[in-house]
Amino acid sequence: RREDEDDDESPSKKQVTDHGVKVASHYNKLQEVGLAARSRSRIFFMRNFNNWLKSVLIGEILDQVRKAGNKRVCVLDLGCGKGGDLLKWRRGGIDHLVCADIAAVSVEQCQSRYDEMKRKSYSNEKLFSAQFITADCSKEVLPEKLDDGELMFDICSCQFVYHYSFESEQKADMMLRNACERLKPGGFFIGTTPDAYELVKRLEASDSLSFGNEVFKVSFQSKGSYPLFGCQYHFSLEEVVDVPEFLVYFPLFEHMAKRYNMRLVLKQRFSEFFKEKVKNEQHRSLMMKMMALEPYPCEDGGQQATDSRDEYAAAQEHCEKAGVRPPLGTLSRSEWEATSIYLVFVFQKMS
Ligand code: SAM
Repeated sequence: RREDEDDDESPSKKQVTDHGVKVASHYNKLQEVGLAARSRSRIFFMRNFNNWLKSVLIGEILDQVRKAGNKRVCVLDLGCGKGGDLLKWRRGGIDHLVCADIAAVSVEQCQSRYDEMKRKSYSNEKLFSAQFITADCSKEVLPEKLDDGELMFDICSCQFVYHYSFESEQKADMMLRNACERLKPGGFFIGTTPDAYELVKRLEASDSLSFGNEVFKVSFQSKGSYPLFGCQYHFSLEEVVDVPEFLVYFPLFEHMAKRYNMRLVLKQRFSEFFKEKVKNEQHRSLMMKMMALEPYPCEDGGQQATDSRDEYAAAQEHCEKAGVRPPLGTLSRSEWEATSIYLVFVFQKMS
């Protein structure tokens, strides 16, 4: 399907362009729903679980960056969306954040969230500085848009994004270049993406071209042969038809990353990552808070907030009023089936 992708005039090139437009318009249209509505969502626990997993990953990588003696920590959030990870960067005490996304409305919302965070920050807190960029990171060279042309990053975080770029080698490579080119030696490229093996395994086990349950559905156009790039499927969550995604054949991803002097440090399915990290007392207690299995501590003396604390409070209130499922519990089987498709990756730049 993608033989002629390098030819600017070809129809497939137009398709490449259209896909970027589709992704941007899909995410631009997604509304910020109220907190109470989110608590009613059938993927409430899955969202919290994913947030916990990202918090653990980000926290552990920041520890490693600090252990290496880096004083001023700069981060690139590639495909930042509406800024769902801003609080994680705040908690991690970083110094500078660059947020980039293809969807202009999401970038605006991310910036407003940051401005609000800054306005409400404690008087003795030095909140990180930030730059916000709207760009198709699988087409444009990001460093050219940086305020500080010399800026180098300690971490590039690419959460639930990289698979959009696997439409073509050109796009996947540009995304990788943007992620890795400005990393300091020893710096990390971290992220989460669907595991292509798992997707194909489930598809092959299905007697149709799709699989899923009441919270998610994955549909392919065919099965039996899976091209390295441009192998498209649709992922819909909670009955909302999502934009097309592409299989990321991990050995190829790893091979391509070597061009940027990146060494694979960790590749782990969400289920394995969870099993390992939950053994750690600190991670487990964060999990309990984020999954709302125990009340959050009162905010006294600048207690650090967890990502879902506000959601928890709003959900509690809502449930009391509406008499619906309280936000106490764990992932449903259906939510687990959806989230267990994903994997975590960590690459490190060799010096
Ligand atoms: N990273 C955020 C998070 O974890 O909450 C958002 C994840 S959301 C599932 C995927 C994001 O990737 C969307 O905000 C979308 O606009 C962005 N994205 C997809 N393709 C992109 C591209 N080529 N360049 C920049 N951002 C892209």
